[in-house]
Amino acid sequence: MELAALIVPIALFVMLLGAAVMVIWGRVTHIKRNILLGKPLFFYKTWAQDWASKDKKNLSFQTKAQNGVFESQLLINDQMQAQGRGQSGEIAENEAAKNFCQQERIDHNPSRMRNMLLIAFGQKKMFERPFVGFMHLVIYAGFLLINIELLEIVLDGLTGQHRLFSSLLGGVYTWLIGFFELTGLLVTLSCLVFLARRNVLKLGRFHKPEMQGWASTDANLILFFEMVLVSLLYTMNATDSLLQARGVEGYAHAGAEPMRFLCSQLVMPLYNGLSDSSLILLERVAWWGHISGILGFSIYVTYSKHLHIVLAFFNTYYADLGSRGQMKNMENITKEVKLAMGLIEDTAAADEPLDMSFGAKDVQQLSWKNLLDAYTCTECGRCTSVCPANLTGKKLSPRKIMMDTRDRLETVGEHLDNHNGQWVDDNKALYGDHISREEILACTTCNACVEACPVNINPLDIILQIRRHVTMEEANVPDAWKSMFANVENTQAPWAFPASDRFKWAEDLQK
Ligand code: SF4
Ligand code: SF4
Repeated sequence: MELAALIVPIALFVMLLGAAVMVIWGRVTHIKRNILLGKPLFFYKTWAQDWASKDKKNLSFQTKAQNGVFESQLLINDQMQAQGRGQSGEIAENEAAKNFCQQERIDHNPSRMRNMLLIAFGQKKMFERPFVGFMHLVIYAGFLLINIELLEIVLDGLTGQHRLFSSLLGGVYTWLIGFFELTGLLVTLSCLVFLARRNVLKLGRFHKPEMQGWASTDANLILFFEMVLVSLLYTMNATDSLLQARGVEGYAHAGAEPMRFLCSQLVMPLYNGLSDSSLILLERVAWWGHISGILGFSIYVTYSKHLHIVLAFFNTYYADLGSRGQMKNMENITKEVKLAMGLIEDTAAADEPLDMSFGAKDVQQLSWKNLLDAYTCTECGRCTSVCPANLTGKKLSPRKIMMDTRDRLETVGEHLDNHNGQWVDDNKALYGDHISREEILACTTCNACVEACPVNINPLDIILQIRRHVTMEEANVPDAWKSMFANVENTQAPWAFPASDRFKWAEDLQK
């Protein structure tokens, strides 16, 4: 009986932990596969071929696609110099490899680490609004610190011990748990402030059309969930302290003296009238509820916007280190222009067909970084709150662009799973089924959304790629734009005046 009483909870705990780890691992694999459905980032094939032919080197790119997953490699004289997707191989000291690494975001590791530490870990951009930044930091720090406490709970569950660290740490243990409780109190207060901002003060950016339904519920649910976890911690600690004080077997040995913790001792009077058996039951329910809640929370996070807790680190690391306002050229067009201007020779290498689609209609035509951006979006709406198009009543919301991209990517991922990893057209696309022409054409390309994002997401890059599809594949732009494009083509300026007349305005100045 004694043995059964020890083994049954351990077996239950192992099953619970194992099931949670398997579900989380499955989700992580699914998300990683989805992000890698995006294209590689490098767009400088023609340039690199020029470089290689000048230096009489045999340069080649390999872009393999297996089950829709791209893998890009750069080879010089048949030696692999660099490999896409951040998996850097031996990076040789040559210009082509350096460019490749820059494009694929595997260069300048110290700067990338600095970005990650400042923006993701230090939450630098959150402090542009100091009060909210501080509240967010409290919740984030609470999340990290409570993970330390989780270590003891997991070890207790696996070994059948009770408060394993208390005998090891002595008096420090009481202070440490008290510190966790204080953190929990601050987390609860911050959650209440955040709930009030959303539901009582009704801040405008939390009530835009894209935030109706699940998006709003998700944000409230997670805040509520965190408060429940803290209250379970308090219940667990308060009942434990009472059981220790009464000398109940299994609890009296938890420390040299009955322990009272900083915050939970304040709620002890609530439970004082309960019998020993009721207290034990409540303590066990709180313990199991706390660990189950944390594991459930960890699974839930992988389905919600709170994935940013983890992905913000990757996203800030792989963020573009160049100027934020810089737009990337389309290699196909650059090549045509260079050929027309005689800047590159019309050689076999130049004739090699490139990918002849323009822009992006669906998520597979976006880059893996665009897709990582989509999964990282916190739905905070800072981008939308500074978007001039949105502020002047247009339908465009950069936050919605990111949410739509993630929704579509999840659908594509599920569709692949349902067809054994093979892509079968589902007759849907990001542009058209999620994002409309009206939204795409409303963007002023001002870059304010990119500046405002606290985790270095670039909604503009997705908008531009879809706009290129609308313009160049569908020619579905307003007539005024068409005239402007024709003028640029014919007179190298948006206005219909010949280039030779350009300095006419200065003629009078010479008189
Ligand atoms: S770049 Fe476009 S989407 Fe971003 S803030 Fe400016 S107008 Fe809005
Ligand atoms: S893109 Fe950035 S600023 Fe916009 S909602 Fe997402 S996390 Fe917030």
